[in-house]
Amino acid sequence: MSQGTMERHEFQSEARQVLELMIHSVYSNPDIFLRELISNASDAIDKLRIEGLRDEALADLAKDGRIAVVADKEQKNLSVSDNGIGMSHDELVSYLGTIARSGTKEFVRAMKEAASSGNADLIGQFGVGFYSSFIVADRVSVETRKAGSDEAWRWGSTGDGTYTLEPCEMEGCGTRVTLHLREKTDDGDASPEDYLSAWKLRGIVKRYSDFVAYPIYVEEAGAEKKDGEEEEPANSMKALWTRTESEVSDDEYGEFYRHVTHDWEDPLERIVYKAEGTSEFHALLYIPARPPMDLFYRDGHHGVQLYIRRIFIMNDCRELIPEYLRFVKGVVDSEDLSLNVSREILQQDRRTAQIKSGLTRKVLDSLKRMKQERPDEYKKFWEIFGMVLKEGIVSDTKNAEAIMRLCLLDSSRGGRTTLEDYVSAMKDGQKSVYYLVGGPVSALADSPKLEAFKAKDVEVLLLGDPVDEVWVNTARAFGDVSFVSISTEELDIFDTPGEEKKPDEALEKAGFVAKLKEALGSAVEDVKLSARLVDSPATFVQKGDPISPQMRHFFKSMGQEVPEEKRVLELNPNHPLVKKLAGEGDTADFAAWGTLLTGLAAIADGESVEKGREFTKALEKLLGE
Ligand code: ADP
Ligand code: MG
Repeated sequence: MSQGTMERHEFQSEARQVLELMIHSVYSNPDIFLRELISNASDAIDKLRIEGLRDEALADLAKDGRIAVVADKEQKNLSVSDNGIGMSHDELVSYLGTIARSGTKEFVRAMKEAASSGNADLIGQFGVGFYSSFIVADRVSVETRKAGSDEAWRWGSTGDGTYTLEPCEMEGCGTRVTLHLREKTDDGDASPEDYLSAWKLRGIVKRYSDFVAYPIYVEEAGAEKKDGEEEEPANSMKALWTRTESEVSDDEYGEFYRHVTHDWEDPLERIVYKAEGTSEFHALLYIPARPPMDLFYRDGHHGVQLYIRRIFIMNDCRELIPEYLRFVKGVVDSEDLSLNVSREILQQDRRTAQIKSGLTRKVLDSLKRMKQERPDEYKKFWEIFGMVLKEGIVSDTKNAEAIMRLCLLDSSRGGRTTLEDYVSAMKDGQKSVYYLVGGPVSALADSPKLEAFKAKDVEVLLLGDPVDEVWVNTARAFGDVSFVSISTEELDIFDTPGEEKKPDEALEKAGFVAKLKEALGSAVEDVKLSARLVDSPATFVQKGDPISPQMRHFFKSMGQEVPEEKRVLELNPNHPLVKKLAGEGDTADFAAWGTLLTGLAAIADGESVEKGREFTKALEKLLGE
C-alpha cells in the first residue's frame, strides 16, 4: 500500500470532553479499562457469529472466537486482540471518533461529578468504554480488519483532540488495541506499568471477565513456552445462570452482577429462575440497590441480556421485560428461540410473551417476599424504584392488583401504609379508599381538604408522585373498594347519619353566598358553605371527576385537550373571616372578598395565585378597612 496516506481527524466535541475526563481524572479503579476492552472484543466476536449465521461466507471466520492479552515489558505496551467482526475505515471514524448516544451532555455532566468524587463506575454504562484506555495509556493504536474485507486500518491517538488513520497489514479479520502505558507516577501506589505483569492481568481478567464466553489468553511477549505446555485461558467461561443456586457462591453471583451491570454496589435482590414447559429458559436477574443514570431516558439501557443456548444475542432486550420493571438487570438464556432472532422477530414470537410474563410474575413474587421478609430493604427498593413500578398499574392490567399490593403509600396519619392495611383499618360504614393528589406529599399533608377527615379520624392516602393520579384513575378500585378523590364535590363521608354538620341556616339566608358567586363570575362554577373545613376559611373542590392542576398543566403542555375545570369554592361557615364577610351584609366589597377567598384556597393547596397583584390589592383593602 502506498505511503503518505495518513489522514488526520478531529474527535467530535463530546468525545473530546470524555477523553479529557479520562486523562485528567484520578480513577479509584483504573483496572476497568481492561474489562472494557475485553468486553468490546467479546462483543466483536458475538457480532461476527451473528453475521456468520446470516452470511455463509463469514460462517467459517466465526468459528473459534478468542481474545488475547499480550504485555510487552520492553515496549511498555499492552495489547488486547480479538478475531471478531473488525471495523471498516468509516466505522473507525464513527465508532471511535464520536459518541453517538443522545443524552451525552447529561452524561458528561454526571461524569464530571463522578470524576471529582473519584467514582468511575459510570464508565461503560454509557458506552464510552473504549476511551477508558486513556486512563492508563498516553498513546493508543487500533489495528483492525473488517470480516469479509481485505483492507486493514490503523487508528492512532494520544487523546489530544485528534486521531490519525492509515492503511496497514493484518492477516485475519479482527481488532488489536495497543496501549502505550503511561510512565510511573511518584504520587500514586498503582502505576500503569503494573499492567505489564501477566500475573496481575490474569487476576483482573478473572475478576471482571470470567464469564466471557470466549477464551481469554494472557501472556507476556517473548515469554518462552515450555514444551507440551497447553495454553490455559484466564477465564472460566462458566455460564452461572445454568447452575443450581446452591452450587454457586454468593461471591460468584456478586461478581456476575458486577460483570453484567458494572455496578460496584451489591444488588438488593437476586432472582434465579428456571422455567420449564412450553418455553424453556434460565434467568438470573438482579434488582440493583441504586438507580442507573438512565432510568428515565427513553433510549436508556433498559432490559436484560438475551442469550440463546449460552450464546450471547443482545443487550438491553426490552422485549423480555416490561417497561415498568426496567430496573431489573441480568441474563435470560432461552433454550428454544432460534439463534438468528432479531428484535422484530422477538416482538412477534409468542415465546417472547411467555418469557416476559414468566419473568414478570417471578419478579413481582420476589418483591412481595422481600416486602414481607425484609421490610427495611424493601423500603429502600421502594424509594428508588417505586415510582417506576407504579407505572405497571396502568400498563399491565393483568398484574395491576399485585402491583397495587406492593405499593407503599403516604398516609394522612403520618408515615406510610399499604392498600391492604388501609382497607383493613377503614372506619365502620366507610365505603371508599380516600386519596388526595396534586402536589408533593409535604404540601398535601397540610391541605385544608383533610380537615374534616382528620376530625373524623378517617385516613386519606397522600399521593405525591405525578404517576399516582394516573394509576389511581386507571385502576378505579382496589378489590371492590373504589378510590375516591377528596377533591370531589360530592363525598359520602359527610352523609354519616347523626353526624351531619348542616351549614348554618342564618348564614345561608344572609345571601352573601349568592352575591359572592355573582362577583366571582366565571372564575368558579359555584360557591357553597362547606362541611369539610375545620380550621381553614376556604378550599376548592371539583364537580365531576377531579383533575389536579398539575395534571392539567401536564396535559396542556402535551398539547392535549383537558375538560374545562369546574371548580367549586367551599367556605367554612365557622371561620372568623367568613363570619366577618357574612356580617358585613350588602355593604361588603364582594369583589375583594372573592379575590381574597379564592386566593387563600389556592395558596393553601400549594398552588399559585393567578393574578398576584389583584390578590395583594384585595388583601390591602380588606385589612385597611
Ligand atoms: P460500547 O462498547 O458501549 O458500544 P465502546 O466505547 O466500548 O462503547 O466502543 C465503541 C464502539 O467501537 C463499539 O460499539 C464497537 O462498534 C466499536 N469497537 C470497539 N472495540 C471494538 C473491537 N474490538 N472490535 C470491533 N469493534 C469495536
Ligand atoms: Mg464497550
